Amino acid sequence: MDFVEAVKAAGVVGAGGAGFPTHVKLNAKAEWFLVNAAECEPLIETDKYLCRTYPDRIVETVKTIAGHLGASHAVIALKAKYQREMEALQGAIDKSGAPVELFGLRTFYPAGDEQTLVQQVTGRVVPERGLPLDVGCVVDNVGTVLAIADALEGKPVSEKFLSVTGAVSKTRMFHVPLGTPITEILKEAEITEHDYAVIVGGPMMGRMLKDKEAIQQAVVTKTTGNLLVLPADHYLVRRSELTEEQMIHRAATACIQCRMCTDMCPRFMIGHEVRPNMIMRNLWREKSISSNEEFEKAFGSAVNCCSCGVCEMFACPMGLSPRKMNEYAKKLLKERGINPERNMHPAAREAVEYRKIPTERLIARLDLSRYVTHDLPQFTEVKVKECMIPLSQHIGKPALPVVKAGDHVEKGALVAAAAEGLSVNIHTGMSGTVAEVTDKGIRICGEEE
Ligand code: SF4
Ligand code: SF4
Repeated sequence: MDFVEAVKAAGVVGAGGAGFPTHVKLNAKAEWFLVNAAECEPLIETDKYLCRTYPDRIVETVKTIAGHLGASHAVIALKAKYQREMEALQGAIDKSGAPVELFGLRTFYPAGDEQTLVQQVTGRVVPERGLPLDVGCVVDNVGTVLAIADALEGKPVSEKFLSVTGAVSKTRMFHVPLGTPITEILKEAEITEHDYAVIVGGPMMGRMLKDKEAIQQAVVTKTTGNLLVLPADHYLVRRSELTEEQMIHRAATACIQCRMCTDMCPRFMIGHEVRPNMIMRNLWREKSISSNEEFEKAFGSAVNCCSCGVCEMFACPMGLSPRKMNEYAKKLLKERGINPERNMHPAAREAVEYRKIPTERLIARLDLSRYVTHDLPQFTEVKVKECMIPLSQHIGKPALPVVKAGDHVEKGALVAAAAEGLSVNIHTGMSGTVAEVTDKGIRICGEEE
């Protein structure tokens, strides 16, 4: 089986982002192959754990992928301050003699934003709403690299490493089958709060689960890398309760047009047209603008926002929500059929190097300092009795079930095949009996010991 076919068969998707099918990304030639190990959101441990634990496998696979892409540069980018991880990877590079370099990023958010990473490592700027490939780069997360290593040995993606951080007795790492209910993991995590919420992912871009039902229904997918547990009355939980209507009202009445949201926006800094202050300035008159041309002038820049959250979680002195208002504006632009022109040759602004958000300041602003620990996470086993494997864990069409209730499946078996078009295969991470197949997922009950 050729390289791309092996990755496709294994159902590999981007482990650190929205789950873009990796076989599509790798079906290319590129000058640079960049590995994203920046782990830029605070209170996530997974990528660091992988770099420390599997440095040889990572380096060897990076060499293989770079060879497949025809890349003349293979670079693993991580924060320079991650010394243990830097040393482990450098040791592996020295041992193997692989033509792989390390790039030490400064400690800022969002160092791991794909387009920021490309600019930092190569000096090139990805076009607005473009792909790294537009400037000769392919970027994969370090977890994706390890999934590719498995794929090349015929092992599909069926389990996931993830960290649990925040209001827990200690930071932990877990390795569980896809579809594991997060409640099974939380049971082992020794949560220190009675009433808590969980963010799936990091505090800036993760998905907030506030009520018990939402927590009970959530399962581990191919893109889950972290669970952040917070007290139910934490600042981030309360903040997530604002309604769209409240945010619009606050924008119209309290925005002082200081422009901090725009001036600190990482995408604005790499030269993209993103001007959240303009969106905020114009929200009050949104319903009265009849001309599409005028509407685009007021709200068009929202389409270039990557939802990193710097504007609303760090920059805005008034505690407003420009990111959410960008999302609102995107919706309105779509409804009106407005698709602003793209700048295909943006150039990073002069201030790009000194207008960065120090991660420590961000942690303090998010009221998370008390959860920062310098201890290594403890690896913790969890016995999973049942899992609910979603059919959609990726960008593209949901996969199509190939099993039915009552079937027996072995760990690693294909349970849903990629649909036509953009889609991926899905495999089970546990052996057992298929209990139920719905349009959302496949429930598997494990074997009794
Ligand atoms: S969320 Fe805010 S800071 Fe981030 S890209 Fe969008 S406008 Fe810029
Ligand atoms: S930072 Fe806040 S107050 Fe300043 S322009 Fe942006 S939304 Fe308005």
